[in-house]
Amino acid sequence: MPGTLLIVSAPSGAGKTTLVRELLKRDGRVQLSVSCTTRQPRSGEVQGRDYNFVGVDEFLAMRSRGEFLESAEVHGNFYGTSLRWLERQLAAGRDVLLEIDWQGAQQVRRAFGQAVGIFILPPSMAILEQRLRGRGTDDEATIARRIHAALAEMRHVAEFDYVIINDDLQTAITDLQAVVHAARLRLAPQRARHPELFSPLLQD
Ligand code: 5GP
Repeated sequence: MPGTLLIVSAPSGAGKTTLVRELLKRDGRVQLSVSCTTRQPRSGEVQGRDYNFVGVDEFLAMRSRGEFLESAEVHGNFYGTSLRWLERQLAAGRDVLLEIDWQGAQQVRRAFGQAVGIFILPPSMAILEQRLRGRGTDDEATIARRIHAALAEMRHVAEFDYVIINDDLQTAITDLQAVVHAARLRLAPQRARHPELFSPLLQD
């Protein structure tokens, strides 16, 4: 398929949402996959833009009909990536970015061997902890739970192709753009984009 499939994972507090938003602003060829979720919308979130918010029964029915490329339970809610939408985008040559957790990333890699995995890390554990403490309004047990969840996510870093350390935001954005650029130049998407150039060179 001519499109490139990008997976971005990170623990909460690494700045993933900001980085992805900045990438989308700068690179009009990247489409963000809108996931389905059973979690409640947060204030400011828009149905169909941030997520497709669905009930648990609906989610389970969609999953049993095979409508998800991957799905996972994260912090007690279900999340899933629509297979049909994704295949259409990739076939049309668009690059698709999935913002999903490590469980989903593993499933996507099994289905699409060409997917490029990008993991975002905070510059240090101390800074991550500071960010997860937020405004200091949460109790210690809540903070400890967040830190534990972040560590559990970060232990999967070795399953990814690229690692971006989000210390300075501008540098991290440039790094992410560079990774996306490099991903487009991999053999498989180049070959799919230029069949006339490759067909006399490679047989299969
Ligand atoms: P949040 O509810 O804070 O938006 O996301 C919680 C976690 O779920 C994040 O790690 C996010 O990357 C992950 N997530 C969001 N959408 C999906 C999805 O479609 N599939 C999977 N596996 N994880 C997702």
